[in-house]
Amino acid sequence: MTKSYGFDTLQIHAGARPDPATGARQVPIYQTTAYVFRDADHAAALFNLQEVGYIYSRLTNPTVAALGERIAALEGGAGAVCCSSGHAAQIMALFPLMQPGCNVVASTRLYGGTVQQFSNTIRKFGWSAKFIDFDDLAALEAAVDDNTRAIFCESIANPGGYITDLDAVAAVANKVGLPLIVDNTSATPWLCRPIEHGATLVVHSTTKYLTGNGTVTGGAVVDSGKFDWSASGKFPSLSAPEPAYHGLKFHEALGPMAFTFHSIAVGLRDLGMTMNPQGAHYTLMGIETLSLRMARHVENAQKVAAWLEKDPRVEFVTYAGLPSSPYHHRVARICPRGAGALFTVAIKGGYEACVRMVSALELFSHVANLGDTRSLVIHSASTTHRQLSPEARAKAGAGDNVLRLSIGIEDAADIIADLDQALARATA
Ligand SMILES: *Cc1c(COP(=O)(O)O)cnc(C)c1O
Repeated sequence: MTKSYGFDTLQIHAGARPDPATGARQVPIYQTTAYVFRDADHAAALFNLQEVGYIYSRLTNPTVAALGERIAALEGGAGAVCCSSGHAAQIMALFPLMQPGCNVVASTRLYGGTVQQFSNTIRKFGWSAKFIDFDDLAALEAAVDDNTRAIFCESIANPGGYITDLDAVAAVANKVGLPLIVDNTSATPWLCRPIEHGATLVVHSTTKYLTGNGTVTGGAVVDSGKFDWSASGKFPSLSAPEPAYHGLKFHEALGPMAFTFHSIAVGLRDLGMTMNPQGAHYTLMGIETLSLRMARHVENAQKVAAWLEKDPRVEFVTYAGLPSSPYHHRVARICPRGAGALFTVAIKGGYEACVRMVSALELFSHVANLGDTRSLVIHSASTTHRQLSPEARAKAGAGDNVLRLSIGIEDAADIIADLDQALARATA
Protein backbone atom coordinates (compact mmCIF):
# COMPACT_ATOMS: atom_id res chain seq x y z
CA MET A 1 0.00 0.00 0.00
CA THR A 2 1.36 3.40 -0.98
CA LYS A 3 2.84 5.29 1.94
CA SER A 4 1.34 8.59 0.85
CA TYR A 5 -2.13 7.87 2.29
CA GLY A 6 -3.13 9.76 5.41
CA PHE A 7 -3.64 8.18 8.84
CA ASP A 8 -7.44 7.96 8.57
CA THR A 9 -7.14 6.09 5.27
CA LEU A 10 -4.40 3.75 6.49
CA GLN A 11 -6.31 2.79 9.67
CA ILE A 12 -9.06 1.36 7.41
CA HIS A 13 -7.12 0.09 4.39
CA ALA A 14 -3.53 -0.77 5.31
CA GLY A 15 -2.89 -4.51 5.23
CA ALA A 16 -6.33 -5.26 3.76
CA ARG A 17 -7.11 -6.23 0.21
CA PRO A 18 -10.18 -7.97 -1.20
CA ASP A 19 -9.89 -11.66 -0.36
CA PRO A 20 -8.26 -13.32 -3.41
CA ALA A 21 -10.50 -16.40 -3.15
CA THR A 22 -13.92 -14.79 -2.58
CA GLY A 23 -13.57 -11.05 -3.07
CA ALA A 24 -14.69 -10.53 0.54
CA ARG A 25 -14.15 -6.83 1.25
CA GLN A 26 -13.63 -7.17 5.01
CA VAL A 27 -10.56 -9.14 6.12
CA PRO A 28 -11.83 -12.71 6.65
CA ILE A 29 -11.10 -14.54 9.88
CA TYR A 30 -8.84 -17.27 8.53
CA GLN A 31 -9.76 -19.80 11.18
CA THR A 32 -7.20 -22.40 10.20
CA THR A 33 -4.13 -23.94 11.75
CA ALA A 34 -2.30 -25.05 8.60
CA TYR A 35 -2.01 -24.20 4.90
CA VAL A 36 -1.70 -26.67 2.03
CA PHE A 37 1.63 -26.46 0.19
CA ARG A 38 1.39 -26.33 -3.61
CA ASP A 39 4.15 -28.94 -3.86
CA ALA A 40 7.39 -29.97 -2.16
CA ASP A 41 9.39 -27.12 -3.76
CA HIS A 42 6.86 -24.57 -2.47
CA ALA A 43 7.15 -26.04 1.02
CA ALA A 44 10.96 -25.89 0.87
CA ALA A 45 10.93 -22.27 -0.35
CA LEU A 46 8.63 -21.27 2.52
CA PHE A 47 10.82 -22.93 5.15
CA ASN A 48 13.91 -21.27 3.62
CA LEU A 49 12.19 -17.83 3.82
CA GLN A 50 12.80 -17.58 0.04
CA GLU A 51 9.10 -17.12 -0.53
CA VAL A 52 6.70 -15.41 1.84
CA GLY A 53 3.64 -17.49 2.60
CA TYR A 54 1.78 -19.43 5.22
CA ILE A 55 2.93 -22.62 6.92
CA TYR A 56 1.30 -22.92 10.33
CA SER A 57 -0.68 -20.39 12.38
CA ARG A 58 1.73 -20.37 15.33
CA LEU A 59 4.01 -18.47 12.93
CA THR A 60 1.72 -16.59 10.56
CA ASN A 61 -1.96 -16.33 9.69
CA PRO A 62 -3.49 -14.04 7.02
CA THR A 63 -5.86 -12.24 9.44
CA VAL A 64 -3.08 -11.62 11.93
CA ALA A 65 -0.72 -10.57 9.11
CA ALA A 66 -3.23 -7.94 7.92
CA LEU A 67 -3.25 -6.45 11.41
CA GLY A 68 0.55 -6.47 11.63
CA GLU A 69 0.81 -4.68 8.30
CA ARG A 70 -1.76 -2.09 9.41
CA ILE A 71 -0.02 -1.34 12.71
CA ALA A 72 3.35 -1.08 10.92
CA ALA A 73 1.83 1.40 8.45
CA LEU A 74 0.30 3.54 11.22
CA GLU A 75 3.61 3.64 13.11
CA GLY A 76 5.66 4.26 9.97
CA GLY A 77 7.66 1.04 10.50
CA ALA A 78 9.16 -1.49 8.09
CA GLY A 79 7.34 -4.48 9.59
CA ALA A 80 5.46 -5.70 12.64
CA VAL A 81 4.80 -8.93 14.44
CA CYS A 82 1.60 -9.45 16.42
CA CYS A 83 1.49 -11.54 19.57
CA SER A 84 -0.85 -12.69 22.31
CA SER A 85 -0.62 -9.71 24.70
CA GLY A 86 1.29 -6.54 25.42
CA HIS A 87 3.49 -8.44 27.84
CA ALA A 88 4.23 -11.02 25.14
CA ALA A 89 5.22 -8.13 22.84
CA GLN A 90 7.78 -6.91 25.37
CA ILE A 91 9.42 -10.35 25.57
CA MET A 92 9.27 -10.63 21.78
CA ALA A 93 10.96 -7.22 21.44
CA LEU A 94 13.82 -8.18 23.75
CA PHE A 95 14.21 -11.79 22.61
CA PRO A 96 16.29 -11.24 19.43
CA LEU A 97 18.50 -8.69 21.21
CA MET A 98 19.33 -10.38 24.51
CA GLN A 99 21.54 -13.23 25.69
CA PRO A 100 21.94 -14.56 29.24
CA GLY A 101 23.86 -11.92 31.22
CA CYS A 102 22.50 -9.00 29.18
CA ASN A 103 20.46 -6.14 30.56
CA VAL A 104 17.96 -3.52 29.45
CA VAL A 105 18.04 0.02 30.82
CA ALA A 106 14.42 0.96 31.52
CA SER A 107 12.60 4.07 32.67
CA THR A 108 11.27 4.12 36.23
CA ARG A 109 7.96 5.37 34.83
CA LEU A 110 6.39 2.22 33.42
CA TYR A 111 3.17 0.24 33.56
CA GLY A 112 3.21 -1.70 36.87
CA GLY A 113 3.07 -5.06 35.11
CA THR A 114 6.15 -4.15 33.09
CA VAL A 115 8.08 -3.23 36.23
CA GLN A 116 7.19 -6.67 37.59
CA GLN A 117 8.10 -8.49 34.35
CA PHE A 118 11.44 -6.66 34.12
CA SER A 119 12.30 -6.86 37.84
CA ASN A 120 11.70 -10.55 38.40
CA THR A 121 10.44 -12.70 35.55
CA ILE A 122 13.07 -11.88 32.91
CA ARG A 123 15.74 -12.96 35.40
CA LYS A 124 14.67 -16.54 34.66
CA PHE A 125 16.09 -16.00 31.15
CA GLY A 126 19.32 -14.62 32.61
CA TRP A 127 18.34 -11.08 31.60
CA SER A 128 17.99 -8.12 33.94
CA ALA A 129 16.79 -4.52 33.98
CA LYS A 130 18.17 -1.33 35.49
CA PHE A 131 15.55 1.31 36.27
CA ILE A 132 16.60 4.91 35.72
CA ASP A 133 14.87 8.30 35.83
CA PHE A 134 14.86 9.14 32.10
CA ASP A 135 14.71 12.87 32.84
CA ASP A 136 18.30 12.43 34.06
CA LEU A 137 20.02 11.83 30.74
CA ALA A 138 23.48 11.63 32.32
CA ALA A 139 22.25 8.85 34.63
CA LEU A 140 20.69 7.08 31.65
CA GLU A 141 23.96 7.15 29.73
CA ALA A 142 25.96 6.12 32.80
CA ALA A 143 23.70 3.11 33.36
CA VAL A 144 24.59 1.64 29.98
CA ASP A 145 27.33 -0.98 30.26
CA ASP A 146 28.93 -3.53 27.91
CA ASN A 147 26.09 -5.96 28.52
CA THR A 148 23.26 -3.49 27.83
CA ARG A 149 21.32 -4.40 24.71
CA ALA A 150 18.35 -2.01 24.74
CA ILE A 151 16.86 1.12 26.24
CA PHE A 152 13.15 0.92 27.10
CA CYS A 153 10.53 3.53 27.94
CA GLU A 154 6.87 4.49 27.37
CA SER A 155 5.92 7.52 25.25
CA ILE A 156 3.06 8.69 27.48
CA ALA A 157 3.83 6.74 30.62
CA ASN A 158 1.13 4.79 32.33
CA PRO A 159 -0.67 5.87 34.57
CA GLY A 160 -0.39 9.14 32.73
CA GLY A 161 0.83 12.57 33.53
CA TYR A 162 4.36 11.85 32.29
CA ILE A 163 5.64 12.30 28.76
CA THR A 164 9.09 10.97 27.89
CA ASP A 165 11.39 13.32 25.98
CA LEU A 166 11.82 10.73 23.22
CA ASP A 167 14.15 12.92 21.14
CA ALA A 168 16.57 13.31 24.04
CA VAL A 169 16.42 9.62 25.01
CA ALA A 170 16.90 8.57 21.37
CA ALA A 171 19.97 10.82 21.15
CA VAL A 172 21.51 8.92 24.09
CA ALA A 173 20.58 5.55 22.53
CA ASN A 174 22.15 6.68 19.29
CA LYS A 175 25.32 7.83 21.04
CA VAL A 176 25.79 4.49 22.82
CA GLY A 177 24.76 2.52 19.70
CA LEU A 178 21.77 0.72 21.22
CA PRO A 179 18.19 0.25 20.03
CA LEU A 180 15.49 2.33 21.74
CA ILE A 181 12.27 0.42 22.43
CA VAL A 182 9.20 2.59 23.07
CA ASP A 183 5.94 1.23 24.50
CA ASN A 184 3.39 3.40 22.66
CA THR A 185 0.27 1.80 24.18
CA SER A 186 -1.07 4.84 26.02
CA ALA A 187 -0.45 7.27 23.17
CA THR A 188 -1.23 5.14 20.09
CA PRO A 189 0.32 6.20 16.76
CA TRP A 190 -2.39 8.83 16.39
CA LEU A 191 -0.97 10.84 19.28
CA CYS A 192 2.70 9.89 19.02
CA ARG A 193 4.89 8.27 16.36
CA PRO A 194 8.00 7.20 18.27
CA ILE A 195 9.94 6.18 15.13
CA GLU A 196 9.87 9.83 14.02
CA HIS A 197 11.58 10.66 17.33
CA GLY A 198 14.31 8.04 16.88
CA ALA A 199 12.77 4.83 18.28
CA THR A 200 14.09 1.56 16.85
CA LEU A 201 11.21 -0.66 17.98
CA VAL A 202 7.69 0.25 19.09
CA VAL A 203 5.71 -2.14 21.29
CA HIS A 204 1.97 -2.13 21.90
CA SER A 205 -0.58 -3.70 24.09
CA THR A 206 -3.30 -3.81 21.40
CA THR A 207 -5.60 -4.78 24.29
CA LYS A 208 -6.04 -1.08 24.98
CA TYR A 209 -6.82 1.76 22.54
CA LEU A 210 -5.97 -0.05 19.30
CA THR A 211 -8.80 -2.53 19.89
CA GLY A 212 -10.54 0.11 21.91
CA ASN A 213 -13.50 -1.68 23.42
CA GLY A 214 -12.05 -4.07 25.96
CA THR A 215 -12.71 -7.31 24.07
CA VAL A 216 -9.37 -9.05 23.46
CA THR A 217 -5.77 -9.07 24.65
CA GLY A 218 -3.03 -8.67 22.09
CA GLY A 219 0.31 -7.08 21.41
CA ALA A 220 2.57 -5.99 18.59
CA VAL A 221 6.23 -5.16 17.98
CA VAL A 222 6.91 -2.71 15.14
CA ASP A 223 10.43 -2.43 13.73
CA SER A 224 11.55 0.85 12.20
CA GLY A 225 13.89 -1.13 9.94
CA LYS A 226 16.52 1.54 10.59
CA PHE A 227 18.89 -0.01 13.13
CA ASP A 228 22.17 -1.50 11.93
CA TRP A 229 22.13 -4.85 13.74
CA SER A 230 25.57 -5.78 12.37
CA ALA A 231 27.57 -2.67 13.35
CA SER A 232 28.54 -3.56 16.93
CA GLY A 233 28.57 -7.36 17.02
CA LYS A 234 26.25 -7.15 20.02
CA PHE A 235 23.25 -8.71 18.26
CA PRO A 236 24.45 -12.09 16.98
CA SER A 237 20.91 -13.50 16.63
CA LEU A 238 20.39 -10.97 13.84
CA SER A 239 23.91 -10.44 12.48
CA ALA A 240 25.66 -13.83 12.84
CA PRO A 241 24.60 -17.27 11.58
CA GLU A 242 21.50 -18.08 13.71
CA PRO A 243 21.81 -21.66 14.99
CA ALA A 244 18.06 -21.64 15.72
CA TYR A 245 17.39 -21.17 11.98
CA HIS A 246 19.89 -23.36 10.10
CA GLY A 247 22.62 -20.71 10.28
CA LEU A 248 20.71 -17.97 8.43
CA LYS A 249 22.23 -14.48 8.81
CA PHE A 250 18.97 -12.56 9.21
CA HIS A 251 20.35 -9.04 8.81
CA GLU A 252 22.42 -9.90 5.75
CA ALA A 253 19.60 -11.88 4.10
CA LEU A 254 16.59 -9.72 5.01
CA GLY A 255 17.91 -6.18 5.58
CA PRO A 256 15.29 -3.91 7.16
CA MET A 257 12.95 -6.90 7.67
CA ALA A 258 15.53 -8.88 9.68
CA PHE A 259 13.99 -8.21 13.08
CA THR A 260 10.43 -8.95 11.93
CA PHE A 261 11.38 -12.18 10.16
CA HIS A 262 13.44 -13.35 13.14
CA SER A 263 10.50 -12.60 15.43
CA ILE A 264 8.26 -14.81 13.33
CA ALA A 265 10.63 -17.57 12.23
CA VAL A 266 12.33 -18.01 15.61
CA GLY A 267 10.40 -15.93 18.19
CA LEU A 268 6.86 -17.06 17.47
CA ARG A 269 7.99 -20.50 16.34
CA ASP A 270 9.79 -21.27 19.61
CA LEU A 271 8.11 -19.04 22.20
CA GLY A 272 4.62 -19.52 20.76
CA MET A 273 3.10 -16.27 22.06
CA THR A 274 0.88 -16.07 18.98
CA MET A 275 -2.13 -13.85 18.40
CA ASN A 276 -5.17 -15.81 17.22
CA PRO A 277 -7.17 -14.77 14.13
CA GLN A 278 -10.36 -14.03 16.13
CA GLY A 279 -8.40 -11.65 18.32
CA ALA A 280 -6.80 -10.00 15.28
CA HIS A 281 -10.30 -9.55 13.78
CA TYR A 282 -11.56 -7.64 16.83
CA THR A 283 -8.48 -5.43 16.77
CA LEU A 284 -8.82 -4.81 13.01
CA MET A 285 -12.41 -3.69 13.66
CA GLY A 286 -11.33 -1.41 16.46
CA ILE A 287 -8.40 0.17 14.67
CA GLU A 288 -10.67 1.37 11.81
CA THR A 289 -11.98 4.12 14.13
CA LEU A 290 -8.78 4.78 16.12
CA SER A 291 -8.34 8.44 15.13
CA LEU A 292 -12.01 9.26 15.79
CA ARG A 293 -11.93 7.64 19.21
CA MET A 294 -8.58 9.12 20.24
CA ALA A 295 -9.73 12.62 19.33
CA ARG A 296 -12.75 12.21 21.62
CA HIS A 297 -10.71 10.50 24.38
CA VAL A 298 -8.32 13.45 24.44
CA GLU A 299 -11.07 16.09 24.26
CA ASN A 300 -12.93 14.44 27.16
CA ALA A 301 -9.78 13.92 29.24
CA GLN A 302 -8.86 17.56 28.82
CA LYS A 303 -12.32 18.70 30.00
CA VAL A 304 -12.51 16.26 32.90
CA ALA A 305 -8.97 16.97 34.13
CA ALA A 306 -9.56 20.74 34.00
CA TRP A 307 -12.85 20.36 35.91
CA LEU A 308 -11.30 18.14 38.58
CA GLU A 309 -8.31 20.44 39.07
CA LYS A 310 -10.60 23.33 40.01
CA ASP A 311 -12.67 21.26 42.47
CA PRO A 312 -11.99 21.98 46.15
CA ARG A 313 -12.44 18.26 47.03
CA VAL A 314 -9.44 17.42 44.84
CA GLU A 315 -5.82 17.71 45.97
CA PHE A 316 -4.14 17.48 42.59
CA VAL A 317 -4.47 16.12 39.07
CA THR A 318 -1.50 14.79 37.09
CA TYR A 319 -2.37 15.28 33.42
CA ALA A 320 0.21 16.58 30.96
CA GLY A 321 -2.60 18.31 29.04
CA LEU A 322 -2.97 20.80 31.92
CA PRO A 323 -0.68 23.85 32.00
CA SER A 324 0.07 23.00 35.67
CA SER A 325 1.85 19.79 34.65
CA PRO A 326 5.66 19.86 34.65
CA TYR A 327 5.50 17.87 31.39
CA HIS A 328 3.01 20.15 29.63
CA HIS A 329 5.77 21.74 27.53
CA ARG A 330 6.55 18.33 25.95
CA VAL A 331 3.03 17.77 24.58
CA ALA A 332 3.38 19.96 21.48
CA ARG A 333 6.61 18.22 20.41
CA ILE A 334 6.05 14.57 21.42
CA CYS A 335 2.26 14.11 21.14
CA PRO A 336 0.95 17.20 19.34
CA ARG A 337 -2.65 15.95 19.15
CA GLY A 338 -2.97 15.69 22.91
CA ALA A 339 -1.69 14.13 26.10
CA GLY A 340 -3.82 10.98 26.02
CA ALA A 341 -6.74 10.08 28.24
CA LEU A 342 -5.10 8.53 31.29
CA PHE A 343 -4.31 10.44 34.43
CA THR A 344 -4.40 10.28 38.18
CA VAL A 345 -6.39 12.39 40.60
CA ALA A 346 -5.68 12.71 44.32
CA ILE A 347 -8.75 13.36 46.45
CA LYS A 348 -9.02 14.78 49.93
CA GLY A 349 -9.80 12.18 52.58
CA GLY A 350 -7.12 9.66 51.63
CA TYR A 351 -7.50 5.90 51.32
CA GLU A 352 -11.02 5.67 52.80
CA ALA A 353 -12.39 8.45 50.60
CA CYS A 354 -10.92 6.76 47.51
CA VAL A 355 -12.51 3.41 48.38
CA ARG A 356 -15.87 5.17 48.92
CA MET A 357 -15.45 7.08 45.66
CA VAL A 358 -14.82 3.94 43.62
CA SER A 359 -18.02 2.38 45.01
CA ALA A 360 -20.02 5.57 44.47
CA LEU A 361 -19.14 5.97 40.78
CA GLU A 362 -21.93 4.72 38.53
CA LEU A 363 -20.82 5.40 34.95
CA PHE A 364 -17.16 4.51 35.60
CA SER A 365 -16.28 0.82 35.87
CA HIS A 366 -13.85 -0.27 38.58
CA VAL A 367 -11.51 -2.50 36.56
CA ALA A 368 -7.83 -3.30 36.02
CA ASN A 369 -7.85 -2.12 32.43
CA LEU A 370 -7.47 1.10 30.48
CA GLY A 371 -8.00 2.43 26.98
CA ASP A 372 -11.64 1.33 26.65
CA THR A 373 -14.49 3.34 25.07
CA ARG A 374 -15.97 3.23 28.61
CA SER A 375 -14.61 5.38 31.40
CA LEU A 376 -12.64 3.26 33.87
CA VAL A 377 -11.28 3.83 37.35
CA ILE A 378 -8.97 1.96 39.67
CA HIS A 379 -7.75 2.66 43.17
CA SER A 380 -4.25 1.28 42.77
CA ALA A 381 -3.42 1.36 46.50
CA SER A 382 -6.17 -1.16 47.34
CA THR A 383 -5.74 -3.27 44.18
CA THR A 384 -2.77 -3.44 41.77
CA HIS A 385 -0.30 -1.91 44.24
CA ARG A 386 -1.65 -3.33 47.51
CA GLN A 387 1.42 -5.56 48.11
CA LEU A 388 3.66 -2.47 48.23
CA SER A 389 4.33 -0.37 51.34
CA PRO A 390 2.55 3.01 51.50
CA GLU A 391 5.91 4.71 50.80
CA ALA A 392 6.62 2.53 47.76
CA ARG A 393 3.06 3.15 46.53
CA ALA A 394 3.48 6.92 46.81
CA LYS A 395 6.78 6.71 44.90
CA ALA A 396 5.06 4.75 42.10
CA GLY A 397 2.43 7.50 41.77
CA ALA A 398 -0.15 5.22 43.39
CA GLY A 399 -0.45 6.91 46.77
CA ASP A 400 -3.35 6.01 49.07
CA ASN A 401 -5.31 9.12 48.01
CA VAL A 402 -4.81 8.58 44.27
CA LEU A 403 -7.28 7.22 41.70
CA ARG A 404 -6.28 6.35 38.15
CA LEU A 405 -8.82 7.39 35.55
CA SER A 406 -9.06 6.19 31.96
CA ILE A 407 -11.45 8.64 30.33
CA GLY A 408 -13.85 7.10 27.82
CA ILE A 409 -15.72 8.55 24.87
CA GLU A 410 -19.10 9.02 26.57
CA ASP A 411 -20.60 12.55 26.88
CA ALA A 412 -18.11 14.64 28.82
CA ALA A 413 -20.99 16.18 30.82
CA ASP A 414 -22.08 12.71 31.98
CA ILE A 415 -18.53 11.75 33.01
CA ILE A 416 -18.18 14.97 35.00
CA ALA A 417 -21.62 14.56 36.61
CA ASP A 418 -20.70 11.05 37.73
CA LEU A 419 -17.43 12.25 39.26
CA ASP A 420 -19.29 15.14 40.93
CA GLN A 421 -21.87 12.93 42.66
CA ALA A 422 -19.23 10.36 43.67
CA LEU A 423 -16.94 13.05 45.10
CA ALA A 424 -19.89 14.35 47.12
CA ARG A 425 -20.56 10.91 48.59
CA ALA A 426 -16.86 10.07 49.09
CA THR A 427 -15.88 13.26 50.89
CA ALA A 428 -19.12 13.88 52.85
C1 LIG B 1 -1.61 -3.01 29.50
C2 LIG B 1 -0.25 -2.56 29.22
C3 LIG B 1 0.78 -3.47 28.98
C4 LIG B 1 0.56 -4.96 29.05
O1 LIG B 1 -0.32 -5.36 28.05
P1 LIG B 1 -1.25 -6.67 28.14
O2 LIG B 1 -1.95 -6.69 26.84
O3 LIG B 1 -2.14 -6.48 29.32
O4 LIG B 1 -0.30 -7.82 28.33
C5 LIG B 1 2.04 -2.98 28.71
N1 LIG B 1 2.29 -1.67 28.68
C6 LIG B 1 1.33 -0.76 28.89
C7 LIG B 1 1.66 0.69 28.83
C8 LIG B 1 0.02 -1.16 29.17
O5 LIG B 1 -0.94 -0.26 29.38
